[in-house]
Amino acid sequence: MKRLLLAGAGHAHLNVIRNLAMQPWPDVEVTLICPYPRQIYSGMIPGWIAGHYTLDQCAAPLAGLVEKAGIRWVQDTICGMAAETGAVNCQNAGKIAYDVISIDTGARVESSALSHSGAPLLPIRPLEQFAIGWKSAEAALIASGAARLAIIGGGAAGIELALAIDYALRRHLPADKVSVVLVSSGALLGGHAPGVIKRVEKLLKSRGIIQHAGRASGHEEGLVLNSGELIACDGIIAATGVAPPTWLATSGLALCERGFIAVGDGQQSTSHKNVFAAGDVSTRIDSPHAKSGVYAVRAGPVLTMNLQQALNGQEPTSYQPQKRSLYLLATGPKEAILSWGSFAAAGGWAWTLKDWIDRRFMAQYQS
Ligand SMILES: Cc1cc2nc3c(=O)[nH]c(=O)nc-3n(C[C@H](O)[C@H](O)[C@H](O)COP(=O)(O)OP(=O)(O)OC[C@H]3O[C@@H](n4cnc5c(N)ncnc54)[C@H](O)[C@@H]3O)c2cc1C
Repeated sequence: MKRLLLAGAGHAHLNVIRNLAMQPWPDVEVTLICPYPRQIYSGMIPGWIAGHYTLDQCAAPLAGLVEKAGIRWVQDTICGMAAETGAVNCQNAGKIAYDVISIDTGARVESSALSHSGAPLLPIRPLEQFAIGWKSAEAALIASGAARLAIIGGGAAGIELALAIDYALRRHLPADKVSVVLVSSGALLGGHAPGVIKRVEKLLKSRGIIQHAGRASGHEEGLVLNSGELIACDGIIAATGVAPPTWLATSGLALCERGFIAVGDGQQSTSHKNVFAAGDVSTRIDSPHAKSGVYAVRAGPVLTMNLQQALNGQEPTSYQPQKRSLYLLATGPKEAILSWGSFAAAGGWAWTLKDWIDRRFMAQYQS
């Protein structure tokens, strides 16, 4: 019996688990290590904040899926790995050995510079903790009668969060009692076309969301920028891009220069043939691409196939990620901005399209 270890229940692993539920793999004992009972889908989180979805609609419950798939589920967090000996270390369960491992644990948010603030800090990851934290923060802000929030991060996630939070708070508080600011150390929406950036900037302005450019650190009144500018606030949300899990540094795996797992064209580690990785935790050395959910989802089917091939002693099949991907940025009400290469558009129809894509994706894992 071969031992396959699935580390994390990220987007690509949902595909592996679904495949196992449809048709068990012979002579393979599969273990999933994941700390949370559900996998929250980030793409629907801005819609959940805005009040368009319940959290259950945005999550894949794992218990039923792993039972159907005949997988042993260790509800724990990986805190170390020894690629040479083929084992991971878990916070509670200790050492778990494998013959083949697939890693889809996502990335973390690096927010240590913001931690010494007088205002509560809520990092966007882990999403499970963010969802719980946001609900209680929102209730406390509404009860206090006023809300001044700072969102850190000028990428798609930071922008969607700022727009959704502004929209949600204004439904409960008078307009003059809500202040949402967006702080970004780099250019807004790097990698997107000028037409998309223009639309986003216009929308932020029309909604009264003030943009600040600079590197933010925690301050007793909220935040201070590297320019010395002070931003007083009652809460900080960190969506400051992606950082690799800390335990990778001592794993013995080959890493890219940013510290993510280096993988080749079959999502196989460039240093260890029995290690595969997909999603934000990995970097395609041959064909680098943005770290976004679209790529994690698309890697799912090839990862499923290559894990089976690796368990059978075969070489992995190569796969080329798409060169560009469709982004639909939720803007608060049931509207979205579409970004596709150099093309930009916006409207209620873009939200309808996003809603249809997201619900269809989640339905695969909810029934
Ligand atoms: C608000 C927001 C909106 C976004 N919207 C979009 C969008 O519309 N389109 C898009 O393409 N991208 C979007 N993204 C980016 C997207 O969320 C990520 O790129 C995507 O989640 C990466 O998927 P993944 O499979 O790598 O990891 P994740 O989805 O992060 O899943 C990681 C899994 O691993 C588990 N895990 C983590 N650490 C451990 C550990 N140490 N041990 C065991 N298990 C662990 C987690 O519990 C989880 O199950 C958005 C991000 C945010 C924050």
